[in-house]
Amino acid sequence: MVIFKKIHDLQDFLSAKRKENMTIGFVPTMGALHDGHRSLVKKAVDSKDFVVCSIFVNPTQFKDKTDFEKYPVTPDADILLLTQAGCHVLFLPDVQEMYPDGTGKGNDFDFGYLDTVLEGAHRPGHFKGVGQVVARLLNIVQPDRLYMGQKDYQQCMVVRSLLGQMNISDKTELIICPTLREPDGLAMSSRNTRLTEPQRALAIVIYQCLVSIQGKVNDGNFDIVQKECLDILKDKGFEPEYVALADARDLALTDNYNTTRPMVALIAAKLGQVRLIDNLLING
Ligand code: AMP
Repeated sequence: MVIFKKIHDLQDFLSAKRKENMTIGFVPTMGALHDGHRSLVKKAVDSKDFVVCSIFVNPTQFKDKTDFEKYPVTPDADILLLTQAGCHVLFLPDVQEMYPDGTGKGNDFDFGYLDTVLEGAHRPGHFKGVGQVVARLLNIVQPDRLYMGQKDYQQCMVVRSLLGQMNISDKTELIICPTLREPDGLAMSSRNTRLTEPQRALAIVIYQCLVSIQGKVNDGNFDIVQKECLDILKDKGFEPEYVALADARDLALTDNYNTTRPMVALIAAKLGQVRLIDNLLING
């Protein structure tokens, strides 16, 4: 695996690969890599892409300064994981390289409704930061395929909108990959390493709530299940931000199940200082 810290060096290298008719698969990450990230790299390798992964903890998508400062950084382990996964290039820029004119520019995308609900509502400015960094990375890497995780469901929808706003939907295909979970069901996340042992044991409650929401699709009233989940989460010591049900295609929030539409259940909750999110598709 070749590591680049400078945009120009990476671009020169990738244009040579394009001349060899290679398709470029891109996996953007913030590091502290785990098997979820590995699965995205593996999917790109399996698709015969020339695989570029980036690691950049983007300051502009964090509203909470502590969350940014405490974000785990594990470069040696990350390089090992990527090498073993068959990644070809790691792009490892610093803030100056990504934002040479400061962080105030390049965040003029408009995600409309998506920016007003769920993650958008609870993390104001977050998706502006995501749009800013992903647009910059896409301009640098110009991938044929962009691999992202369903774990960040709303982010995938925001990035789909971004590809449209950048007019590159026909050039870069977004591949959404399934959420990898720990054996007990907890969605893998870089933030899980910040959980204490007792918190880690409790963290599966989020997944259990999603499973119960999914399981009651045919006989349940979502209002009741939602309240049960909020009560359970609070009872176990979480600070739930939302337990929601939405149309899986446009994230329109809904009060009740509708078996004729694809739906997604989504939860965000804080456990101590650590904010966790997860989701599960319902009706396929
Ligand atoms: P992050 O480093 O958290 O920004 O994540 C980088 C990419 O990995 C995003 O597209 C995430 O959705 C994806 N990802 C994170 N956790 C998982 C997981 N458990 N399973 C699959 N993909 C994941």
